[in-house]
Amino acid sequence: MNLKNFRLELGDDAIALLVWDCPGRSMNVLNPEVISDLATAVERVIGDPAIKGCVITSGKDSFSGGADLTMLETLGHQLAARSRSEGREAAMAAFFEGTRQLSLLYRRIETCGKPFACAINGLCLGGGFELALACHYRVVADSDKARVGLPEIKVGLFPGGGGTQRVARLMPTPDALQMLFRGDQIRPGMAKAMNLVHELAPVADVVSQARAWIAGGGKAIAPWDEKNWRPPSGKVFSPGGMMIWPPANAIYRRETFDNYPAAKAVLTCVYEGLQLPMDSALKVESRQFAYILRTPEAAAMIRTLFGSMGEINKGLRRPKDQPASTLRRLGVIGAGFMGAGIGLSAARAGLSVVLIDRDQAAADKGKAHAEAILTKEVMKGRSTLPERDKLLALITPTPDYVALADCDLVIEAVFEDRAVKAEAIKKAQAAMRADAVLASNTSTLPISSLAENFARPADFLGLHFFSPVEKMPLVEIIMGTKSGPRALAIGLDFVKMIKKTPIVVNDARGFFANRCVGAYIREGHLMLGEGVPAAMIENVGRMAWMPVGPLALNDEVALDLAWKVLQATKADLGADAVDPVQEKLLETMVVKGGRLGRKNAKGFYDYPERGPKRLWPGLADLQPLKLDPDGIDVGELKQRLLVVQALEAARAVAEGIIADPREADVGSILGFGFAPFTGGVLSYIDNMGLTAFAALCDKLATKYGARFTCPDFVRDLARQGKRFYDQVGRQAA
Ligand code: NAD
Repeated sequence: MNLKNFRLELGDDAIALLVWDCPGRSMNVLNPEVISDLATAVERVIGDPAIKGCVITSGKDSFSGGADLTMLETLGHQLAARSRSEGREAAMAAFFEGTRQLSLLYRRIETCGKPFACAINGLCLGGGFELALACHYRVVADSDKARVGLPEIKVGLFPGGGGTQRVARLMPTPDALQMLFRGDQIRPGMAKAMNLVHELAPVADVVSQARAWIAGGGKAIAPWDEKNWRPPSGKVFSPGGMMIWPPANAIYRRETFDNYPAAKAVLTCVYEGLQLPMDSALKVESRQFAYILRTPEAAAMIRTLFGSMGEINKGLRRPKDQPASTLRRLGVIGAGFMGAGIGLSAARAGLSVVLIDRDQAAADKGKAHAEAILTKEVMKGRSTLPERDKLLALITPTPDYVALADCDLVIEAVFEDRAVKAEAIKKAQAAMRADAVLASNTSTLPISSLAENFARPADFLGLHFFSPVEKMPLVEIIMGTKSGPRALAIGLDFVKMIKKTPIVVNDARGFFANRCVGAYIREGHLMLGEGVPAAMIENVGRMAWMPVGPLALNDEVALDLAWKVLQATKADLGADAVDPVQEKLLETMVVKGGRLGRKNAKGFYDYPERGPKRLWPGLADLQPLKLDPDGIDVGELKQRLLVVQALEAARAVAEGIIADPREADVGSILGFGFAPFTGGVLSYIDNMGLTAFAALCDKLATKYGARFTCPDFVRDLARQGKRFYDQVGRQAA
């Protein structure tokens, strides 16, 4: 038997050990070759009378990260090609069979009559965990690194290898739905409590424990294949079921606003599946899976959040001729909110960090911020005191710029003030090594102008982090007009070290992300000015599947900041560059009302000391005109909020600020949470079709003004029948 991805070893106890170990990869993934190997190995176990049962484990630190989703993209492309050559019906039949291969193989394991046990030695997700669920017994390593889960929903899919059916048969229906909707990674103890695994064991013992279960006469039958088995929540059509399903539908709508077909398919699979015997239930799941795979939402999310993100993280934009950098020491100037977070992220990556501020007390405060975060992790059991202290020992707070002498990279994060930054840059330059790179974390000042304070502008660039640094996964790398390829390579290497995702953009007002976000917030302001009720604006933001409404977002980033940016724009570009309605609103809120946002507990919302925030009742008094909520077209409001952001992104492409649609899409979802179901700002336009998008812009421009004017660049692409993604030669989502 010639297996590339597995080793099959038969022990003296007649129990086979099937070790999954994809060659040349750090993580096991499911792809057509692995599935074929697994099927061969399983048939060998089933067909060999000398084999009593089988333990499946992994030869790597983790068990499996799940499926290589490009496999699913390929199936979609095959469907399109077959439809053309063999007709739609034959193509669909082949597609359906292709997409349920894994489900059938897992069911074969479950019903083969020999006991299979899974020894989960580490991370075990998606299709990898569905394999474990199909085994009759599961032992998981009781280690901090082990996690199980079905995260498919996060890329617009759902578990189509039997996951929805087995999870729904292992635990009460509400818990199963929650697990499938959320796609969380679950710790071992919780997995046991949820009945997802049978046993915890030290990582070194998972295989022996799984083996012992088979040797001890473990039964080769799943509970749901036993006679008289009852679902944990009882029958769907029962008084208990009636308590579950009406609220489940309501919760689905509340959580998704019907934007995620995969979540709806989960409901269908569980609802219909629980009324059927397992084989029929799996067929229902397969049908839904084949349908979901063909939805634009799944295609767009897979392309952006799996394909493009993988390409970016593997160094899409790294200049090929630059040698790998060996970063050991980072300097951070400004130990405030951002600087402290950047320092901690670097320490976590093993870099030693010099944290500089104006005096020792201010620098110490930055380190104390890191200590507070790490201590919280210890208290939650996610880390230990020695681990915390080891990380803290890497951070040296000091007011002395001389400490920058050994740094490979220095990031300035001082006040957003041109003069303060200029002084910090000059002081840093005097202390830095002649080959070290200097980056600015400015959010508004042009990088090219800051670089004028540095004698080596080729070694100067922007590294724009998002707040809070500890949580936000994106870094915008800003190339000034003179930033060089070596600085870019070092910036990219650093972002990779701290496990964040970079996008590379050219220098411009608001760079890329803030420019799009600014348009979202402005649209909220203008809606308020038109007389749309504030609550409706906020709800529509959520309905468009933005993380928060535009007014809440403005409160988080601070209203006075929005006011300052507006004033700076006016000073630089003239009065016509700002909208008078927005300016008046911000002036009333900030200058006259002292309402700065969450930071002073007064913004578009009030933030009482106890209890949740509430929209400020005074907002209604700021609206000279009040529209009748029943007469407002909610669908159009939703469109406006997404279209303004997509338009800014399209303009950024037209102006050469961002070149690659993959970066724009990934950046929009990771940086400001642009409606993930769309696949990102440019996928949103591509999937609507450029002609349709231009027509929508024309309609909105007529009604609401020039900010909706469609760029000629988009009209030209539309005329040529092209999309944004055609520029990078990627197949359509
Ligand atoms: P902050 O006020 O929390 O921190 C600034 C720190 O810089 C303070 O600790 C201050 O003492 C120190 N500082 C000032 N002058 C200094 C000098 N000459 N030498 C050494 N230290 C000095 O501000 P922040 O929110 O951390 O912002 C810092 C930078 O990051 C700004 O450029 C800001 O625009 C940018 N930024 C902020 C955010 C955000 O959401 N806060 C997001 C992205 C980028």
